[in-house]
Order: sequence, then structure tokens, then C-alpha cells
Amino acid sequence: MTSVKTATLPAFDGRALINGKRIGAASGQLFDCISPVDGRVLTQIARCAEADIDAAVQAARAAFDDRRWCGLPPAQRKRIMIRFADLLVQHADELALTETWDMGKPVKYAKAVDVNSAANCLRWYGEAVDKVYDEIAPTADTALALITRVPVGVVGVIVPWNYPMIMASWKIAPALAAGNSVVLKPSEKSPLTALRMADLALEAGIPAGVFNVVTGFGPEAGSPLALHMDVDCIAFTGSTRVGKQIHVMAGQSNLKRAWTELGGKSPNIVFADCPDLDKAVEAAVGSIFFNQGESCNAPSRLFVEASIKERFLEKALKLVPAYAPANPTLPDTIMGALVDQTQMNTVLRYIESGKAEGAKLIAGGEQALSETGGCYVQPTIFDGVTNSMTIAREEIFGPVLSVLSFTDTADVVRQANASVYGLQAGVWTSDLNKAHGVARALRAGTVHVNQYDEDDITVPFGGFKQSGVGRDKSLHAFDKYTETKTTWIRIDSPV
Ligand code: NAD
Repeated sequence: MTSVKTATLPAFDGRALINGKRIGAASGQLFDCISPVDGRVLTQIARCAEADIDAAVQAARAAFDDRRWCGLPPAQRKRIMIRFADLLVQHADELALTETWDMGKPVKYAKAVDVNSAANCLRWYGEAVDKVYDEIAPTADTALALITRVPVGVVGVIVPWNYPMIMASWKIAPALAAGNSVVLKPSEKSPLTALRMADLALEAGIPAGVFNVVTGFGPEAGSPLALHMDVDCIAFTGSTRVGKQIHVMAGQSNLKRAWTELGGKSPNIVFADCPDLDKAVEAAVGSIFFNQGESCNAPSRLFVEASIKERFLEKALKLVPAYAPANPTLPDTIMGALVDQTQMNTVLRYIESGKAEGAKLIAGGEQALSETGGCYVQPTIFDGVTNSMTIAREEIFGPVLSVLSFTDTADVVRQANASVYGLQAGVWTSDLNKAHGVARALRAGTVHVNQYDEDDITVPFGGFKQSGVGRDKSLHAFDKYTETKTTWIRIDSPV
């Protein structure tokens, strides 16, 4: 840790961005932004509350009503969105390092994955917006029925801390491209890159008031946004617990459209006829430890057919040392810090519950690098897990893999589906019928076959059951941020 130099830290501005201006909370209140890398205070953040949310929503409403953004031709919005994406890429080093200090992920991935994906997402929706056509209905000759997509208005966006830039861009990119105004509330645990994105949006030419960022805690800043009578749509990514409240708040207020991307406990099923066991092992281990296990779609329940389980685990254990946590600001680190002390303690509590309920700890299980003052947990694997144990049922959101074994295909599908979540799932087999049959039977928004890392902006992302409502990414995301409008035109034909 001593090799990290304070001089490498960018200067952080923790003020909100409302109506094109950086501004403190109306109350003057601030809170500390603490780095999980080593516990240092990075800066202080504006502690926004109802008055600030109201100011941001009013700015967004005024911008929408005077059509300074939605009234631009789509080709012009496209150019500005692309400039916004380019600016992210130009600031990639700064944004990546900021993300790493703010929430602990390895700087290597913050740059290669987070900044790149966010920029790609902004560019993709910018590119799309002057290529999607509206419809004319096949009605009788006496009338013309136009079916158009119009922006919904003011979109509130609330996101978590695990991929702050990506989660924000999955929502703000289609919302802005479609012509909406946006008020974004990032997580109180990772507010810094959202604020910088808003600075860069202004620099790119998105008019003041169109994209606002309010910082603060969920109940103080998030709830007023979800309850606001002048917000037309709320797009949320986060826990299932808070997601349920978002739908209630939407119903309690103005019946705003509510979209939620929530938790997961994704099953990954490896059959004995898996085409490439090494690849399956690498994917199982790599996917649960990537981003310190703080991924909603992490395959945290690994089902391995009993006949290959010992061989599988032998190979898996050989990979674990490479994921030993290290300083995430160093360029080669692949496992960094958990987002904060609270999350670290939650993960450690789940590890204790696994031990107490009879699972067999075969790797890790302890806090790491405690002398740094940071929030690190060893990569952890439990064998002998059953589906009824807490570590198999609840989302841990940390580097903890639960291994279960099975002998029967119908039974493993039943177990895989026995979860309140349905975000993603994996299947590994050489048998085409089994791959299709199992993939079809799995209740999940995405099923991976013989890989677990395919991802692209062109495909929808979201879950079944309590993993949420709606889909991010792809052209389908425009459905969330547009209203479908019918315009009837009478035609009294002279011929
Ligand atoms: P969280 O639900 O605690 O917080 C998410 C956001 O909601 C934060 O900005 C928070 O301030 C805000 N919030 C909290 N209470 C609120 C309230 N009462 N009203 C309004 N807003 C409130 O989740 P988290 O701990 O930040 O993130 C982890 C969760 O996010 C995990 O469950 C993970 O699976 C989920 N997630 C899902 C996806 C997906 O696409 N399905 C992607 C990433 C993360």
C-alpha cells in the first residue's frame, strides 16, 4: 500500500450538478467520501435532500418543456451524444482512477471495462437515435394513423455502486438519446464519476438542465426523486429490497413508470459432458471473483455433476491464489477492495453463516490486508452447500462461491430455479438437446451456454422474478423512456 502516492489522486469535486452548475446542498450539509482502498477521506459530498431534488427536477422539467434538447433533430442529439462518449474516452485515466479510489475496483478493469462500456453505451444509443423509424398503421384509406415514440419527459435514475458508470450509462444513454431530461442519483458510496460524467456532458453540448446529478443517501435523496410528482419515469438499479419500495413510491405518487434491475443468485450448471472443463473452471472462478464478487449476475451458485466435482474443485483451487486481494490502484491487480466496511462486514457475516450451517470452507474465508485500513476479503469457496443454506439463497455480493453437486438433470433444473431471483444462468454440456432443453427450462433473463462472459450492448439485460422489471441495453431500452403515441389524421380523399 505504501507504493500508492497521494499525488496520483485527482482533485475531487463533491458538489451536485443542477441546471448546468456545480452547487452544494441547500442545507449546506456534507458527508465524507471514504475510499475503501485504505480508508482515507477523498473529499466531501453534497448531502442533497428534498429541496435539492426538487430544484433538479424543476430544472429538468423546464429543459424538457422548452424543448432545448428533445426539440433538436435526432442527428444533432446523436452528434452531441457521440462527443459525450468521446470525452469519456479522453478522460479514461482520470475516470478509472477516480472509480478505483471511490469504490475499490482494480484500475485495470475500471479503465478497460467500466469507462469503455459506458462510452460505448453512450455512443451506441447516440448512433441509434437517428436510425429508428416510427410506424404507420395499416388502417382504411379514410384516415392515417401515425404510431410515434415520444420521450416520456423527466426521468429519475437511481443507481448502485458496483459499476457506477456502466449502470448510469445503461439508463441515461437511451433516456437522453430519446430526448428526455434526466436527474441521476448515484450511490452515496460511489458518487464521484457520475458527477464527472455530468461535467463532460455539459462540455459535449448537452444543454444545462437536461442532465442533472444529485448526490446523497437513499431515503434522503432517492425517495424524494421516486416520489416526485413531476418525475415521469424512475429507472432504478439496486437491491430487491429497495426496488420493491421504488414500485410502491411510484404508485403512491403519480404512477410514474418504474423500471427496476435488481439482485441475483445465478446458478451455473456444469454437466459431466462439459466440452472443456478447464474453460468451465476458469469461467466459474473468474466470474464470481471479478469485481470482488460485486456483480448482480455473478454465478454464485455453482452446480457441478457429482462424477466430476472432485476434479473440478482441484482445478478451481489452483486458480484461487491469483485472486488474492491487492492494492487496486496498481496496474496488475485483478482483485481489489469491497466498496466499504459495511459491505465487507456483510460478506464476512455470510461466510460465518456458511460455516455455521455446515458448508465446507475450502478456500479463503477471512478478511485480508486489514493493516491497510481498506476493505478486503479473501476469495472464498464453500463446498457441500445445499440450496436451503443462507449462502445459497441470499445474494452475498462478495467473492464467495457456493458449490453444490447433483446427479439428475430434472433435479438440478428444479434447484437452479428454486430462487426468488432469475437474473442469469449458465449451462455447460456437449449435448445440444440438453443445452437447449435446460436453457429453455431455466427461469432467467439471460442463459449462457458453454461460456459465462458474453456481453454486448446489442442484447437486453434484466431478470425474471424478483430480479426486476424491464430490460436495460439494446433497442428494447427505448421502450422504457418513450411513450407510444397514436395520431389519427382524417383523409377526405378528393380522388
Ligand atoms: P441499494 O438498493 O442499497 O442502493 C441502490 C441505490 O438506491 C443507491 O443509490 C441508494 O442510495 C438508493 N436507495 C437506497 N434506499 C433508497 C430509498 N429508500 N429510496 C430511494 N433510493 C434508495 O443497492 P446497492 O447496495 O447500492 O447495490 C447492490 C445491489 O444492486 C445488489 O442487489 C445487486 O444485485 C444490484 N444490482 C443489480 C443489477 C442489475 O442489472 N440487475 C446491476 C447492478 C447491481
